[in-house]
Amino acid sequence: MYKRYRIQLQPQQILVPEPPFFGNVMTPTAVTEEFPVVDIGRCILCLGCISIAPDIFFVDESTGKMSVANAAVYPKALVDEAIKNCPKDCIYWDQPL
Ligand code: SF4
Repeated sequence: MYKRYRIQLQPQQILVPEPPFFGNVMTPTAVTEEFPVVDIGRCILCLGCISIAPDIFFVDESTGKMSVANAAVYPKALVDEAIKNCPKDCIYWDQPL
């Protein structure tokens, strides 16, 4: 399971979650430095991404908008599944600057 961090990380700041990082849900075969982003201007809060990846996507209680949990790495296959199933195509991969 991922830990959620509510702080904004700078690219050089990497938090390494304590094991078991990926739990028994999946062990990624591909780990990427990319991170998922939600275009909240297009998001309709259908919560589909949360149902697919509840440890990655969440509704930020302070803004009421969809948000992405900070993590050192993201499981590519799981995020890709959320991207594929997002009805508004508003999840995409981005890279650190
Ligand atoms: S699946 Fe897409 S539209 Fe639905 S809540 Fe997630 S980001 Fe928003």
